[in-house]
Amino acid sequence: MILDLKDYLEDMRRCARCSLCKWPPLAQMKSWRFSNNCPSIARYNFHTYSGGGRMALGLALAEGRLDTITDEMLNIVYRCTACGACDSSCKYNSELELLWPIYSTRAHLVGMGYFLPEHSMIIDSLRKEDNTMMRPKADRGKWAEGLDVSDLSKGEKAEVVYHAGCLYCYDPELSAIARDTVRLLKEAGVDVGIRGSQETCCGSTAFQLGFQGEFIKFAESNIDDWNAAGVAKVVTSCACGFGIMKSVYPLLGKEMKFEVLHITQYLDELLKQGKLKLSRSFPARVTYHDPCNLGRKSETYVPWKGEGKKVLGQFILREPEKVVHRGWNGIYEPPRDIIRSVPGIQLVEMERIMEYSWCCGAGSGVKQTMNDLALWIASERIEEAKSVGSEAIVTACPWCEQNLKEAVKEAGSNLAVYDIVELVRQAL
Ligand code: SF4
Ligand code: SF4
Repeated sequence: MILDLKDYLEDMRRCARCSLCKWPPLAQMKSWRFSNNCPSIARYNFHTYSGGGRMALGLALAEGRLDTITDEMLNIVYRCTACGACDSSCKYNSELELLWPIYSTRAHLVGMGYFLPEHSMIIDSLRKEDNTMMRPKADRGKWAEGLDVSDLSKGEKAEVVYHAGCLYCYDPELSAIARDTVRLLKEAGVDVGIRGSQETCCGSTAFQLGFQGEFIKFAESNIDDWNAAGVAKVVTSCACGFGIMKSVYPLLGKEMKFEVLHITQYLDELLKQGKLKLSRSFPARVTYHDPCNLGRKSETYVPWKGEGKKVLGQFILREPEKVVHRGWNGIYEPPRDIIRSVPGIQLVEMERIMEYSWCCGAGSGVKQTMNDLALWIASERIEEAKSVGSEAIVTACPWCEQNLKEAVKEAGSNLAVYDIVELVRQAL
């Protein structure tokens, strides 16, 4: 079991109810307008929706103080994109875990048989069709039809496997990005292959919704398949897939004989090695949206087990020392370096970036089950992008791209939304 609420009893008890998890640290705040960091509390303005409120709820659950689990309670639990912004803010001044108690609260509730009806559809699809999109497994490889690429599911070999992920495989508008990614890698001389119809979900949605049995099944089988295929690298352009492979897969204790890379890391490397050259001008003022799972949530999680001793009446001295994940080591520079390498482009930063970035709103099943919340969160990001005079917002995740595009359309805005691969293809 990876998620056990009892492992976080101390963190939940030590939450000071200070509410600092509702905002970026003061030193990082640049304006009142964009001073929120938690989409959930910003939208609903009731303490339980915040990171600290979720700690209080998780603690009550772990201590058996909740007689009944109401629908309203479940709604609060899942009206959160598990973006981890609260976790980064809290850790500015502490070593408390916040995001993992949030995940564990969900896993605890799922263990008791509580989840939203919409989640059953996603999980049923995962169990029957190996994807979260409620689409047939047999259609998974269709996005790559006609592409000249090795198919590992047919016994062909490749040094690098490209994992497209559920959304790129099944969304016809987005699958062009997956096709472009393969073409780019081939143009750079990479020996790349795909797993075609045998590719399966990475397990990210199951994990974030609290269905850890399903997550473990998919994660273990992916690791086994990639090991058996003998690939040296697993590359994905889905930030959610990358985040889970990088931060949670290692906890399963299985040997991973391959390196996991997000496409932005790989393209940045290929550009710097001169294997890809960008020569066409793209004269635009753009901003970059950090996907949570590529940024603060991509650090490999190391659960802490040990003893905390109180010294001087208030400080906790941990034995052994705790590895604290503050979001500092996310993938922040490679995508920015790629954008800067496009001739004619001007990159401007929004106010909330990197570990304190505002979420796009799509994560953790929110896009599939609570689109109103997902679109409101994205609309806030669009306002922020416009406030710095940006003509376009560039991102590096299909979920961010899809949600931001829908919100732009709904707002009647003329802001363009690009995936970073699209930008590179246009500049080649
Ligand atoms: S989770 Fe952290 S920042 Fe939020 S109220 Fe608790 S101690 Fe304060
Ligand atoms: S994970 Fe994100 S949405 Fe959920 S409580 Fe924390 S900051 Fe808010």
